[in-house]
Amino acid sequence: MDKKVILTGIRANNNLTLGNYLGAMLPIIEMAKSRSDNYQVNMFIPDLHSFTTPIDHSKLYEQIIDAARLFIAAGLPTKSANILMYRQSYIPAHSELTWILDCFTGMGELSRMTQYKDKSAGSADDRISVGLFNYPVLMAADILLYNASYIPVGDDQTQHLEFTRDIAERFNAQFGNIFTLPAPLKSQREFFSQEKGIRIKDLVDPSKKMSKSDDSNKGVIFLSDTPAEVKKKIMSATTDSIGVINYDHENQPGISNLLDIYSMVSGKDIKNISAEFTGKTNYGELKKAVADEVVRLIEDLQSKLDKISKAQAVEFLEFSEKAANDQANSILLYAQIAVGLRSKAK
Ligand code: ATP
Ligand code: MG
Repeated sequence: MDKKVILTGIRANNNLTLGNYLGAMLPIIEMAKSRSDNYQVNMFIPDLHSFTTPIDHSKLYEQIIDAARLFIAAGLPTKSANILMYRQSYIPAHSELTWILDCFTGMGELSRMTQYKDKSAGSADDRISVGLFNYPVLMAADILLYNASYIPVGDDQTQHLEFTRDIAERFNAQFGNIFTLPAPLKSQREFFSQEKGIRIKDLVDPSKKMSKSDDSNKGVIFLSDTPAEVKKKIMSATTDSIGVINYDHENQPGISNLLDIYSMVSGKDIKNISAEFTGKTNYGELKKAVADEVVRLIEDLQSKLDKISKAQAVEFLEFSEKAANDQANSILLYAQIAVGLRSKAK
């Protein structure tokens, strides 16, 4: 592998919001497209991670295929040698390396992970799965098996990234240079600094972000919404009583959120959008413009999605999985030799 690897996990979920699409999916696809000349971009669906807490297992398999279809529909190139999209469980090395790393990880170390503490808080011990506890080790394997350098992790995952560096360092100190350490957090942040997406806010309560697990879905646009639903939600978005349009998140969060959505969906710069609307007094006109753009986007995406078959998604995944297995198995073998599970002699 000569190119540095960027690795990112894609959670399989059928119920994506406009926020997920604009804030996560599109930036990832843009990143894959723009970086794949100089980097290898590994996108993987962390299916083994998906039931550390209970889920509906009868839907999981289909959700994974649909997640891949959605990425293809949204423009992810499937013919680039430098862009892979694979399912974690189809690369058995992830589970194997996890076990090896488990035996070099302290209970105390994992007990201190804040995400574990948050997610397990309030549950009886027997209700907390060992998988939830062990998740950071699987994540370390996800990263180390591909010598991944750059991993766009959110704040809730930075501790796991530090843990990955720690365990790799410890392993290397004992066995020689087996693993490549992912870049330290500061360099990660610098590397991804331009790719930070904007937060889309809830349409009813623009003080919080649009989130799929919101109690009431009135302020949340789903990619599966009908045009009528989209229109209704945007036309009834909460605004303010100021009566003049300004791009001012502090004093006019609802209006500013609509301007942000308009800018991102239309691809026009926020400065131009603001200039176009600033000083106008007709909120309805802005809402209608936003609704038209969002409807167009969702209709276009849905019609593209209809044309991507499950077979096409599986073909892309399987192609990627072949390449991913080759990469992962070669690193796994170094680790297996190091701990004495395989012969040193070639
Ligand atoms: P949940 O309510 O289950 O937390 P969510 O809609 O907040 O769901 P996540 O699964 O937490 O979505 O996040 C998936 C990805 O989408 C993350 O990369 C996150 O940064 C991004 N994302 C989520 N909501 C928004 C939003 N409103 N605006 C921009 N990006 C978002
Ligand atoms: Mg969330």
